[in-house]
Amino acid sequence: MATLHEAGFLEDAAAPHPAELSENDLRRYSPNLNFFRTRAAADEDFYAPQVRLKQTRVVVFGMGGIGTNVCMALAELGIGSVTGVDFDRVDLSNLNRQVLYSTPAVGRLKVEVAAERMREFNPDIEFTAVERRLESLKDVEEILDEAEPDFVFCLADRPNGWIDFWINEGCLRRGIPYTAGSVSSHVGTAYSVLPGEGPCYRCIVEGENAQHPEFQELLDYVRIHDLNSSNGALGPACMFLAYFLSYEMLRHQLGLGPMLTSHKLLEIDFVTFTQQWHDTTRRPDCPVCADVSPRDSAPATDRYSPGVGADD
Ligand SMILES: [Zn+2]
Repeated sequence: MATLHEAGFLEDAAAPHPAELSENDLRRYSPNLNFFRTRAAADEDFYAPQVRLKQTRVVVFGMGGIGTNVCMALAELGIGSVTGVDFDRVDLSNLNRQVLYSTPAVGRLKVEVAAERMREFNPDIEFTAVERRLESLKDVEEILDEAEPDFVFCLADRPNGWIDFWINEGCLRRGIPYTAGSVSSHVGTAYSVLPGEGPCYRCIVEGENAQHPEFQELLDYVRIHDLNSSNGALGPACMFLAYFLSYEMLRHQLGLGPMLTSHKLLEIDFVTFTQQWHDTTRRPDCPVCADVSPRDSAPATDRYSPGVGADD
């Protein structure tokens, strides 16, 4: 019995479940709970991660191919509050990858349709639809101050060349961790930012500029001409990247282990499945993150990761 207990195979069947989880939650999320059961240490409460997910507030900027799949992942996990931000309307050409929309929704506002679908799929999740075209850092900051998220997904692509910088700065100023990703043709990229702990997006860009001076020229060109990619992206690639990013959020929010992209920029080729993990470094002179210190409330890593190494 002692051996079984030490190995984490025993639990107190008479222990009451926490008041934060309803009977409905216990049923809906029973596979989640079974997963947490296998991860928690012998004397740890395996309900705690699900309660934490229910108390987590997330903002998703960009309700496109990756954003809609992220929302589905959040609804499956039982994230308590999700705010979806987009200004666009559903187009028939979105339906190859934007999983929350269906054919009758063509022409309607994306966030409105997303809200209906999210409520239908999981009525216990509070989904807030924000229909807004982001045109400045101030716009981003207003949304963050209203939603007060614990975690942010940066998945918007317009205005290209600006939006990542605004979300980066808005989150850094508030100490909000975030993850970002995009898919262009067969290549997906992802990075994450932990305020005060790792490099921010500005650090990554400055690092790129230092190595490849033509990068700044390219960025200026994109900004001046308001260039956007032609949406060459397959549904499975968007879904894969979205679910990968959702797991990054889980690693951070639940302390399942260190995030894989907080000090690395991931490039993945979906045809060959080749992955490149580029090291990124925090710049001591970064105008955005140099003075930022780690968030006090950041969850301790490795709380539920008995079998996972903490090397970063
Ligand atoms: Zn920085």
